[in-house]
Amino acid sequence: MKVYNTLTRKKEDFRPLAEKLVTMYSCGPTVYSYAHIGNLRTYIFMDLIRRVLRYDGYKIKGVMNITDVGHLLADADDGEDKLQKAAREQKKTPWEIAAFYSDVFFKDIAALNIAKPEIIAKATDHIPEMIDFVQALLEKGYAYEISDGIYFDIAKFPSYGKLSGQSVAEKEAGARIEENTEKRHPADFALWKKADKNHIMQWESPWGMGYPGWHIECSAMSKKYLGEVFDLHTGGIDAVPVHHENEIAQNEALAGKQTVNYWMHGEFMLVDGGKMSKSLGNTYTIAQLAEKGYDPLDFRFFCLNAHYRKKLNFTFEGLSAAKTSRERLNAALFKHKNGSSSLTAEKIASYEKEFEDAINDDLNIPLALAVLFNLVKEPYSADVYALALKFDKVFGLSFDKITAPKTDNGEIPAEVLDLSAQRTQAKKEKNFALADELRDKIAALGYSVKDTREGVVIVKL
Ligand code: AMP
Ligand code: ZN
Repeated sequence: MKVYNTLTRKKEDFRPLAEKLVTMYSCGPTVYSYAHIGNLRTYIFMDLIRRVLRYDGYKIKGVMNITDVGHLLADADDGEDKLQKAAREQKKTPWEIAAFYSDVFFKDIAALNIAKPEIIAKATDHIPEMIDFVQALLEKGYAYEISDGIYFDIAKFPSYGKLSGQSVAEKEAGARIEENTEKRHPADFALWKKADKNHIMQWESPWGMGYPGWHIECSAMSKKYLGEVFDLHTGGIDAVPVHHENEIAQNEALAGKQTVNYWMHGEFMLVDGGKMSKSLGNTYTIAQLAEKGYDPLDFRFFCLNAHYRKKLNFTFEGLSAAKTSRERLNAALFKHKNGSSSLTAEKIASYEKEFEDAINDDLNIPLALAVLFNLVKEPYSADVYALALKFDKVFGLSFDKITAPKTDNGEIPAEVLDLSAQRTQAKKEKNFALADELRDKIAALGYSVKDTREGVVIVKL
């Protein structure tokens, strides 16, 4: 498999440390609100990598964090904690807020056929590991204490900025006016913040009561579960310039070596060509799409049609087109399921090769879908359906659950399609008496079935 590594800015052969096991960390949600379709695109991307790795025969040890603490607004080290703000607005505790939105998040991803990574790590369950990490950085001289917390000293880490390719000087030029005059460098970031009494979530530490900075959780939890060095780290593209840069600084300062071999980032989803934001009212959730009549898998299918490194513009026209296209695909697959034609071994092998070349070329899922669309144009055959089911291990579109379409291009009723499917099955089992009986039933409904070389054809009488 080839993957585009953000760190080297190149497509590289993916070679995990162990032969058949991939260790992988994915930045998870901050559970202070519902996940919107942009967030969910990033988790669909994570799921696709995991599915391709599995398809290729790897086992995965994947960790995803749940940020249920300390994640401040924007990239700032100052300001109100997002969870605390939601808690205040909804008159709940931050713990209640986190529990509620985590629950919705897991339901959303299940509806999108995104499998949960093997290990789900909540930040609040790992405060001691974070404190140990910060303490170790202090001992190694990479961190310093000031009146409001412990900060990472980026001057001690000369390769700071290597993931985004942004020098510290460039960063500084773009930075806002610094309020914290005690910091040694404006880009130094908080590892641990000392809490004032109004801060609800706070823990004991060697530096008094406080709470973690918002990058340390990923470093502490990846180290705990995956070890100092692991294969793959994923996240949304917005995490590159600050969050992942800081994670690298923390990890490498402690380990004294490179700790993540491949970094992969999913591009953003736009809405109507622009940014998604609460104030524009365009941060749709899965529940809101469902209210408008869209299945979560219509949204998954919509995402599958764009490469993960391309921006994807969400519109309702686009989603409707995806819905129609998915329905047609399912209807065709249903016919294949009951088809009587067959595919030669050479053809099967050739479709498989095209599909595998696509998915292994930096996750070219749109191309893999094009292979599937060619495949379903074959004469109706259960071989096509079997191959589609194999490809669905990557697509995750529930081809195993397809049922008779309600109407076939608005013409053939489901009942007739069902009877026809039963008849094909009866013929396969050489139960010709039943097959004839079913043919009569179909005729009584005003349709005739014919067996042709292209499979079963149903015509209105
Ligand atoms: P958050 O819960 O805010 O930490 O975000 C969760 C994930 O969603 C992060 O990995 C972000 O990179 C990602 N994300 C946020 N907005 C978008 C968007 N518009 N398109 C794609 N991914 C996004
Ligand atoms: Zn992270």
